[in-house]
Amino acid sequence: MKICTLCEEQSKKSRTGKPHEHLTEVDAPRIFKGKNPQGFEEQDYQCLECAAKFTRSTSKNDLAWTLWQG
Ligand SMILES: [Zn+2]
Repeated sequence: MKICTLCEEQSKKSRTGKPHEHLTEVDAPRIFKGKNPQGFEEQDYQCLECAAKFTRSTSKNDLAWTLWQG
């Protein structure tokens, strides 16, 4: 399945980028606490247009927006 233009742009967004208008949150955010006292968070999103799935992470070690193909 082809992803929509908004999702294609979303995958290039930075950590501060907002989810586009058709992305909805899936489940609750996952909170990770590690060596960094503030830890980090992951939130899953799904696009209502093309059903693409994203995970947004606030971890410095991960991509801000990870697109899950297929
Ligand atoms: Zn999409």
